[in-house]
Amino acid sequence: MKVLVIGGGAREHALCRSLSQDPAVTELHCAPGNAGIARVATLHPVDQLDGAAVTALAQELGADLVVVGPEAPLVAGVADPLRAAGIPVFGPSAAAAQLEGSKAFAKDVMAGAGVPTARSYVCTTEQEAAEALDAFGAPYVVKDDGLAAGKGVVVTEDRAAALEHAKGCERVVIEEYLDGPEVSLFAITDGTTVLPLVPAQDFKRALDGDQGPNTGGMGAYTPLPWAPEGLVEEVLATVLQPTVDELRRRGTPFSGLLYAGLALTSRGTRVIEFNARFGDPETQVVLARLRTPLAGVLLAAANGTLAELEALRWDEGAAVTVVLASEGYPANPRTGDPIEGLDEAEADGTAFVLHAGTRSGAEGEVLTAGGRVLSVTATGADLAEARAKAYAGLSKISFKGAQHRTDIAARAAQ
Ligand code: AMP
Repeated sequence: MKVLVIGGGAREHALCRSLSQDPAVTELHCAPGNAGIARVATLHPVDQLDGAAVTALAQELGADLVVVGPEAPLVAGVADPLRAAGIPVFGPSAAAAQLEGSKAFAKDVMAGAGVPTARSYVCTTEQEAAEALDAFGAPYVVKDDGLAAGKGVVVTEDRAAALEHAKGCERVVIEEYLDGPEVSLFAITDGTTVLPLVPAQDFKRALDGDQGPNTGGMGAYTPLPWAPEGLVEEVLATVLQPTVDELRRRGTPFSGLLYAGLALTSRGTRVIEFNARFGDPETQVVLARLRTPLAGVLLAAANGTLAELEALRWDEGAAVTVVLASEGYPANPRTGDPIEGLDEAEADGTAFVLHAGTRSGAEGEVLTAGGRVLSVTATGADLAEARAKAYAGLSKISFKGAQHRTDIAARAAQ
């Protein structure tokens, strides 16, 4: 099977790593990729937002499957010309990707499907926003309606700051605050059948102790020893299947990865958000535990034959990933610094490095090229072992101004 992966972050590196280990995959390509993905796939300098260019590349390569990783190309509709050309593609259409592309659309789908979520108002004026903030009270939750790479959400006790964020957005969703721990649950779907993966937890805030600004994610782990039994079955029945059924009913079937961001509140499980693609950094830990070869699963989703697939097999152990970010992330990431210790981090085989914002320099060195630079992932018999190995690997890597959280999975591993 010839597979083309679209994207160039750590999520795509994780996908490429798993695909490269699948004996069914004979050729692996990635566009545009990054310095780490170049080690397992052939890179192509194609604009990932350009559907015609991506389709032309897939045709030229004779790709049997295209996997679209990030939200931006999905929302831009890159999957549509691929499907129109008869190429199996893992990733939803532009219409279905609105589930992530517009928080207001997602709320509407959830209302139609009877999916439990935070009560909310969609506001387009300052006055509406002010009224919505006062209707719910503190803590205030203000979300930019459109895509914002995980950074469009402000949760604050400060009413003035909440209103300021709302004023900066064309359209905002203001909603009630959800208490309780968060869970990320991914499901692979072909638009009808829904196959949940194992739950994970990510760490959105930049600093230890969940302080600092929201980021794209600073680390993740799986499994969740504290999660209630039967959580996956409950979420499948109350969230995932009804959402997939509702989108099919609306004539915009969702095929690809449906990501439910959940809050386990004192009043029950609620959806915080949906994403239309694998989450980064949760993908690193979820795929680290997947034993079933990945390509066949993604192809079955693309072809609408998931119902025929055998149950997924999982590693019984644990996985932890820690993100290494550049100085100034998320507001003002510094780039262009050489990264040391990449080989040393993987030398004893206990941890692996997945690249996010990296690029190759003129002399073959690897340079920082983004906010989240890379993540180090390890598996182990339990969370404590996986966590120790991931941090041991991370400690070998350095670049100027590198920052990471020191408390990823710390509480869960105790
Ligand atoms: P989102 O982009 O919608 O996932 O929001 C990013 C983060 O903001 C979430 O992971 C939560 O930590 C937080 N958040 C979003 N919505 C709420 C809410 N209604 N109540 C509490 N926290 C929230």
